[in-house]
Amino acid sequence: MPDSAPEIQRITARSSSLGEGLTVARTLPHRTRRMVGAWCFLDHIGPTQFGAGQGLHVGAHPHTRLQTFTWMIEGEILHRDSLGSDQVIRPGQVNLMTAGHGIAHTEDSVQGGQRMHAAQLWIALPDAVAECPPAFAHYPQLPVWQDGALQYTVMAGSFAGRTAPTAVHSPMLGMELLNQQAAPATVTLPLEAGFEHGLLALEGGFSVADQVFAMDELAYVPPGQAQLTLELAPGTRLLVLGGAPFTDPVTLWWNFVGPDLAAIRGYRADWEAGSPRFGDVPGGEGRRLAAPAMP
Ligand code: MN
Repeated sequence: MPDSAPEIQRITARSSSLGEGLTVARTLPHRTRRMVGAWCFLDHIGPTQFGAGQGLHVGAHPHTRLQTFTWMIEGEILHRDSLGSDQVIRPGQVNLMTAGHGIAHTEDSVQGGQRMHAAQLWIALPDAVAECPPAFAHYPQLPVWQDGALQYTVMAGSFAGRTAPTAVHSPMLGMELLNQQAAPATVTLPLEAGFEHGLLALEGGFSVADQVFAMDELAYVPPGQAQLTLELAPGTRLLVLGGAPFTDPVTLWWNFVGPDLAAIRGYRADWEAGSPRFGDVPGGEGRRLAAPAMP
């Protein structure tokens, strides 16, 4: 029995500043759509060309009860954190930092004047593991294959029998489809029917269910679809996110996820007091980001 046409929601990115003149396109959270599965934050960085001597520089800042997930497309970023991790991420690789109880990190361009293109997402941790010890993992190799016009990369979860090594804690999918052809490519993706999905063009554009989505317009597909037919414009790079609708409480404020605002007040106070909950980032001395005032 064919699926009925899904009711697709369009979420247009808003611009947010990462400092030093770098703006990013943020689609999650949105007032009409907070999450897609456990994916609770989605920034599309670039593509951009930094001027001579310029780059991405994000000072030391904390996280709790989430994983930061970085997918690098162009350029290089040096990640350092309060566990002592010191890792450059390059195109085609994923960095996954598990904040759990608390961690702090910095992110810096390796060189000025580079091109930069990346997606940075947050994954909410289920209650059962949300307070786990912090961890950092670098995944230099992921399942990548070509099928017809499209190159597939599985970055989290499984698709078509390929499983990413990424250590995630709830049922989810993170995948990239790349149409390297000079012609549009049509594909029917089998979906996990219990998942909701989000589709975002990081380059190019696509259409689904007779609706056209430009770069930085997220298409939200509700649960209940066993497959979905897409048309990718030439050169399109499509991020495909999926996950079981997340039912544990998630409050998001600044860089924190908490079970509620009261808990987040505590994390904020710990960060402002220099608590060992977060620790110090080597090289992050003197560029610690201050938490904004809470409402
Ligand atoms: Mn961060």
